[in-house]
Amino acid sequence: MSTFQAPKGTYDLIPPRSAVFLAVRDTISGQVRNAGYGYVETPGFEDVNLFARGVGESTDIVTKEMYTLTTKGGDQLALRPEGTASVLRAALQANLHKQGNLPVKLWYSGSYYRYERAQAGRYRHFSQVGAEAIGAEDPALDAELIILADQAYRALGLRQYRILLNSLGDKECRPVYREALQTFLRGLDLDEETLRRAEINPLRVLDDKRADVQKQLVDAPLLRDYLCDACKAYHEQVRELITAAGVVFEDDLKLVRGLDYYTRTTFEFVHDGLGSQSAVGGGGRYDGLSEMIGGPALPSVGWALGVDRTVLALEAEGVTLDLPAPTSVFAVALGEEARRVLFGKVTELRRAGIASDFSFGGKGLKGSMKDANRSGARLTLVAGERDLAEGVVQLKDMESGEQRAVALDEVLDAVRAQLA
Ligand code: ATP
Ligand code: MG
Repeated sequence: MSTFQAPKGTYDLIPPRSAVFLAVRDTISGQVRNAGYGYVETPGFEDVNLFARGVGESTDIVTKEMYTLTTKGGDQLALRPEGTASVLRAALQANLHKQGNLPVKLWYSGSYYRYERAQAGRYRHFSQVGAEAIGAEDPALDAELIILADQAYRALGLRQYRILLNSLGDKECRPVYREALQTFLRGLDLDEETLRRAEINPLRVLDDKRADVQKQLVDAPLLRDYLCDACKAYHEQVRELITAAGVVFEDDLKLVRGLDYYTRTTFEFVHDGLGSQSAVGGGGRYDGLSEMIGGPALPSVGWALGVDRTVLALEAEGVTLDLPAPTSVFAVALGEEARRVLFGKVTELRRAGIASDFSFGGKGLKGSMKDANRSGARLTLVAGERDLAEGVVQLKDMESGEQRAVALDEVLDAVRAQLA
């Protein structure tokens, strides 16, 4: 063991579990690629002010969780804690919104960093796959994203998750609600920090996880009772569209994202097998964000799904993904001449697109066959001096146990035929 360990709150993805992570990323991204979303990749760090404004000065992410650094050149940067602000920044910078093709639909996948209290399901380095639809106000777009996320979890085989849905109103109706909530919160028995939060960002108090706080919030005014007609109609359309798609959801009247530029649709995917780190993904509309980071008005909607927690959810439900073996053919060479010949065959098979591996390290037959078994390969090629003298290799089907001699120059065809 090395004297170095992965930093606190982080872990390494190693085989075989790492294959599950890849499959989760592929399954989620497969859904959005299939719906017209284009791939975007942004730097792992940004100007710290992008997040201060784009995530919000009063959020935990910005006040407590951000990894900030000053470069040798004096730039103030932060490791990205989330994806939306960066993706919107990139779209604005490339003028994607000016090409008359709104909405701009983008997806991303990558690492995110938050200085959090590390625990199961909550890490300081984690991965997300996200999707953003920028520049259109259309309830079908909100519905599309919710349906695609649901589809991704379903395709993975998850069942014990729930979709929580709410509307946050807009810049017309929310301020009225905000006032009413603030008045209510001022009358409660809350600690100083929470009272301060109630002044800066009252909606976030609704998100407080503590039981004694939640008890006091039972009679809090609800946004639903303050929604303007336009917001009500919009939300009703989103609900109808996802219902028509057969997606089951729950109205959660206290679900919030406590920032002024988050508007209307907000949703969260929670999994019931994950204890307190139950959110596997979340998203919503952010009609005011573009203007917050210096862009034009661009009503947008998006989500980010946590890959780590999705894998934990699969494990909690006992779902094993049907992953194809990474290797189809494993070559076992006995002796120097066989090594040379079979290594050549492995290269030939790989060039033909057949996943192949080789018994490296000069092991004997027993050790090499163990490697072949471990690889999960359907077929094994075995050759020793006697085989080579006859111009053949032994092709063994690992499932049936059947073995036959195949002429050296017919190996590729024989392997192809047997794998088909
Ligand atoms: P939570 O309430 O659990 O802190 P969040 O609201 O901060 O979640 P988002 O910013 O909406 O989470 O991120 C979207 C998803 O990314 C979450 O639903 C979760 O699956 C994942 N995620 C967020 N923070 C972490 C973390 N520290 N470790 C692992 N996954 C995370
Ligand atoms: Mg968080």
